[in-house]
Amino acid sequence: MARFSASERFVRVLEVVAGYLRSGVVEWPPEVEEGLAREALEMLGCRVPPRPGRYALEELGLYDDISPPPLRVFESTEELLWRNWPTPLVKLRSLSRGGVGVWAKLEFYNPFSMSVKDRIGWSMVREYLARNPGARVILYEATSTNTGLALAAMAAIRGLKARLYLPSTVQKASDVLLAAMGAEVCRRPGSITVELIDEVDEEARRAGAVHLNQFENDANFKVHLRYTAKELDLQVRSAGLRLRGIVGGLGTSGHMSAISLYFKSRYGDSVRIYGVQPAPGTAIPGIRRIETGMKWVHLVRFDGVLDVSPEEAIEHVLRVARSEGILIGLSAGAVTAAFERLLERGELEAGDYVVVYPDQGFKYVEQLSSYLQRPAGE
Ligand code: PLP
Repeated sequence: MARFSASERFVRVLEVVAGYLRSGVVEWPPEVEEGLAREALEMLGCRVPPRPGRYALEELGLYDDISPPPLRVFESTEELLWRNWPTPLVKLRSLSRGGVGVWAKLEFYNPFSMSVKDRIGWSMVREYLARNPGARVILYEATSTNTGLALAAMAAIRGLKARLYLPSTVQKASDVLLAAMGAEVCRRPGSITVELIDEVDEEARRAGAVHLNQFENDANFKVHLRYTAKELDLQVRSAGLRLRGIVGGLGTSGHMSAISLYFKSRYGDSVRIYGVQPAPGTAIPGIRRIETGMKWVHLVRFDGVLDVSPEEAIEHVLRVARSEGILIGLSAGAVTAAFERLLERGELEAGDYVVVYPDQGFKYVEQLSSYLQRPAGE
C-alpha cells in the first residue's frame, strides 16, 4: 500500500500555524525562525506584520480572502471559482432534531467538477504555474473523476492539456464528461486511484509531463486550510452556531485534515472531528480506507473514523433527496450515514454539526440505477 510522509519543514510550519490559531495572535518578530513564521502566515492568508508588536489574526487579514461579489458578477470562469467562495452552508431541517442542528456544506457549488476538488485543481495548477511561469505542459493525474474534471477545466482556462488515469471501477459516464472537457482519458485496471500513482509518475516522467499528484501535493491541504476551513469558520460564526462537530469523507484526506487542524487548533476538543471511510472490502467513489495510505491524516487529530457500506451511502443519498430535495453524491451519502449513526449511538451532545458534502449525485446515475432496479428485498 502507498506510504506518504510529510517533510519535516512542512510539519514545523503546521506547528506554527496551529500555535497562531490557538492563541489568535501573532507576535512580531516571531520566536520561531522568521522563514517558518512567514510561511505559516502565508498558509493562513495573513499579512506579515508591518512592524514589531502583537497582532490579532483578524488584523492581519485572516478573513480577507473571503469576499464574494454580492451580485455575483465575475471577470472570468477562474474567478467564478475562487471569488464565489464560501460554498453554501445550509441547515438540513429533516435531519435536525432533539437539540441537534445539522448543517451541510455544499461543495457541489463549485463550477468545474461540481465538487470539492475544484479547490485543489485550482490551487495545484496555480502554484505550479507560479513556480514555472509560461510553462506549456500536459498535466498527468490519477483521479476517480472529480480532480480530473477540475484539472481539465484549469487546463482549458490556462492553455494546458490534461491526461487523466481512471481505475476501471469508476462509472463509465466519467469518460464522456472528461473527454467533453478536452482531456485525454486512460483507463487502468484497479479499484482505487491511489494504486495508479506509481504508473502515472513513471509515464509523466517519460513523457516530460507534469504529475501534480493530489495525494502528496501540499497545495491540496493548503487550499483547504486557507479557504475551506476558514470560510466554514466564518460562516459558523456569522450564523451564531454552537459548533460541536464536523463529519466528512477521506480520499486524499486533504479537506478533512485541514479542517481538523484549523478547528482543533482554534476551538480545541469542543469541536469533534469525524472521518468517514468505506467499510472493509467495499468501494465508495471519492473516499477510501486510511490504511490504503494518506499523507495529512496522520498530522492532525480525529475523534473517530466511521466505516460505511455502499448500501448505507446510497440509502442516505435517497433519504436526503426525498426529504431535502437535493441529490447528493455517494460519499456525501456516506457522510450522512456516519452522522446518523453517531446521533443514534447518543455520541453527540446538543448543538450544531456540519456535514461536508463533496459532490452531487448526477455523476452517479449508474450506481443509483443499479440500486433502484435491484429486486425487492435485496
Ligand atoms: N468525495 C468525493 C466525491 C471526492 O471526489 C473526494 C476526493 O476525491 C472526496 C470525497 C475526498 O476528499 P479528499 O481528497 O479531500 O479527502
